[in-house]
Amino acid sequence: MTVYSGPVFDMAVNQFGVIANHLEIPMDERDRILMPKRAITVSCPIHRDDGTVAVYEGYRVQHHLTLGPTKGGTRFAPSVDIGEVAALAIWMSWKCALVGLPYGGAKGGVNVDLSTISKRELEALSRRYMQEMIPFVGPHTDVMAPDMGTNEQVMAWFMDTYSMYQGQTVTEIVTGKPVSSGGTLGRREATGRGVAYLARRVLKELSINPGTATAVIQGFGNVGSYAALELHQYGLKIVAVSDHTGALHDPAGLDIPTLVRHAATHGSIAGFSNELAFDPEQILTLSCDVLVPAAMERVIDAKVAEKLKCRVLAEGANGPTTPEADLVLEKRQGEMFLIPDILCNSGGVVVSYFEWVQDLQQLFWEEEEVTRREYAILDRAFDQMLQRAKADKIPHRTAAMAIGVEKVRAAKNVRGLFP
Ligand code: GLU
Repeated sequence: MTVYSGPVFDMAVNQFGVIANHLEIPMDERDRILMPKRAITVSCPIHRDDGTVAVYEGYRVQHHLTLGPTKGGTRFAPSVDIGEVAALAIWMSWKCALVGLPYGGAKGGVNVDLSTISKRELEALSRRYMQEMIPFVGPHTDVMAPDMGTNEQVMAWFMDTYSMYQGQTVTEIVTGKPVSSGGTLGRREATGRGVAYLARRVLKELSINPGTATAVIQGFGNVGSYAALELHQYGLKIVAVSDHTGALHDPAGLDIPTLVRHAATHGSIAGFSNELAFDPEQILTLSCDVLVPAAMERVIDAKVAEKLKCRVLAEGANGPTTPEADLVLEKRQGEMFLIPDILCNSGGVVVSYFEWVQDLQQLFWEEEEVTRREYAILDRAFDQMLQRAKADKIPHRTAAMAIGVEKVRAAKNVRGLFP
């Protein structure tokens, strides 16, 4: 029996089973690698603007502390539950290990519908969540970051709350902070840039000219919007984008810089254009060269996978593709090049690592250096994944995850089991 349940957790378990079978990990070793070290559930009471008190449930799952502190984002969304958070923490572990960061995975979240709370209530909730987490986090224990529904402002409140309790400013307690308070240049753009950089690399491998290529992007938050901007700068035509309010489709190519500005001021793509409105349900199956799911997990199921019409599937979101869909993608391997999530969106946590290192050293880098080092890490991990996939004749996701799992397993085995 376990407290973790739900389709997203089942998915992480299922994927791990595939990897463990491939690596021939003995059955009695598997739970030690897969099951999270700690899961914390807290109640976060806040004063509502109308004078009443509301209580929100918050979580933090720390998957393993074998390689260093745990690392991962904090999600504010109505979908959040302990199973989803645990799965996302497990994926963070494989991601950090794949790209060679000295971290285990973690993830946190609060079950809240942000459309129902004011900015003051969001600040109260953010501060109370961090305050409840103080006994369990620390710059060398667990380092938070943004995820769906959180941003630089929320990270600033987290950092401030932690620091007030410590009696000194501890910038290295969270990453993804504003540059004005210990954040790094290039973090805001890092995830989307990384997605676009890898997608362009694959286009080159497939001999597709970026100047004549098209892209479709699901999700227009931090990941989707910066991926769109970067792909646009590479010369791709972004023919469709969507977010939680709807979708836009323009075969001639959307004006991405203007749309990004619109989304930044209005909070979404809603109201940008009535003529270009499109059914968001159909966005994933549009014909394009690069498809970037950058919203939720589990949006590509087996049915959608059968209908995908892209050449490159660049997974900006965590867990957008179900294990059943993976089987379809395996059959269609010759038609589509998959850049799996733990590689494709890892630019975010890579630059979070740079932010943590800079904060610890109080020595800050130029943006050019941040981005150059980010791309070097992505290139190395991409090469390793491709080599592994070819050598073992396995799909890209299996290869990427196998590299991550293997590193965590090796570290656990060499450190031994205490007592
Ligand atoms: N939430 C992001 C992710 O899923 C970033 C995590 C981090 O920067 O620590 O990778």
